Amino acid sequence: MRRERSNKLFERAQKFIPGGVNSPVRAFKAVGGNPIFVSRGEGAFIHDADGNRYIDFVGSWGPLILGHAPAVVLSAIARAAQEGTSFGWATAREVELAERVTQALPSVERVRFVNSGTEATMSALRVARGFTGRDRVLKFSGCYHGHADAFLAEAGSGVATLGIPGCAGVPQGAAQDTLTAPYNDLQAVEDLLKAQGDKVAAIIVEPVACNMGLVLPAPGFLAGLRALCDRFGALLIFDEVITGFRLGLSGAQGFYQIRPDLSTFGKIIGGGLPVGAYGGRADIMEKIAPLGPVYQAGTLSGNPLAMAAGIATLEALSRKGFYADLDSLAGRLEQGLRALLTKHGNPARVDRVQSIFYLWFKKDADHSPKDYTEIKAADAALFGRFFNALLNHGVAIAPSAFEVGFVSAGHTQTHIDATLTAVDHALAEVMER
Ligand SMILES: *Cc1c(COP(=O)(O)O)cnc(C)c1O
Repeated sequence: MRRERSNKLFERAQKFIPGGVNSPVRAFKAVGGNPIFVSRGEGAFIHDADGNRYIDFVGSWGPLILGHAPAVVLSAIARAAQEGTSFGWATAREVELAERVTQALPSVERVRFVNSGTEATMSALRVARGFTGRDRVLKFSGCYHGHADAFLAEAGSGVATLGIPGCAGVPQGAAQDTLTAPYNDLQAVEDLLKAQGDKVAAIIVEPVACNMGLVLPAPGFLAGLRALCDRFGALLIFDEVITGFRLGLSGAQGFYQIRPDLSTFGKIIGGGLPVGAYGGRADIMEKIAPLGPVYQAGTLSGNPLAMAAGIATLEALSRKGFYADLDSLAGRLEQGLRALLTKHGNPARVDRVQSIFYLWFKKDADHSPKDYTEIKAADAALFGRFFNALLNHGVAIAPSAFEVGFVSAGHTQTHIDATLTAVDHALAEVMER
């Protein structure tokens, strides 16, 4: 495959942008080679600067559940843009999206829109601290909650991919207030809370961990966190930036029937535009200015184009059978992958929940990974070769052994079957070496 234009762009980019990328996950550092530069997307596909076309399972890292450039979202954005791109005054679209979100998620009695998932988690933690009068937060190893100081300890996503041990530039004071426990380990959480529960404002968790590969909550884990929060007076924050509107309209909290105190959203809620949101119990959310003493603001928050994209997306997701259709399409991919992995000597294991899937490159793995320590045993070198072989066969997955893939409504059975053929070729190439 010719990549001359991407390579040229990368050369230019590196002169002016650190590492040539505006988010480290876009770099190919962990898999070898240069990043591709994408020029456009449509449905299941992305096209790069050299005119190569790939079936895409990155989906902008989660937002594009309808696929690339869906007509309903594009026309909603175009209509909104005609009326002006930003006002900094209150608008009707903010109210409409807020109504849709609170209707879909009973635990979200009040919601604030921000511009990214990072802003959402950062603000949720601030209001949890303001409400409880406590400073500490408990997170889980391998979970990613954006790049605010409080959440970078043992973080997933790019931090895991690049193996960054502890983020430089995070003040000791901030790091000290963050406690970490292994995912799925209720005993570790209870021990931490017994020792310092009176200082813990919140437990924040990805209800399905999607930033260290895919780790599903063990039966009872989320309910156990709910009970421990109640016992020690801490708030339970579900970071649903990926799972929100992905596992269903009511997110992971609906899927697993657990009611968190606060939730954070991003990705799908903005339909491909920069949106985040945090919300939850009215008594907590009403501590936020102008009602209360917790300050949080944003010049572009609730931006009309972004709200329009979010509304159009949520409307499309409300179609009866949307999630069932996506689930069965993703199931076809899962089954196909499982058969191919068996055929090629079990170099990896496939796991899936709804439209989120993950290939864990752990040879002969006989169980799903349960935490970050297990996941890290993945053969990242073999994954890197597989990634590049697959890309050359026209299928794009995330350039990291620790990232999930997303099936979207832009995919059809034909795309899934073409993907499986490409995976068959790619596995044959990397396994014979
Ligand atoms: C992506 C992500 C974030 C951060 O969102 P950004 O929009 O990238 O700032 C936070 N939490 C989770 C679970 C995420 O997957």
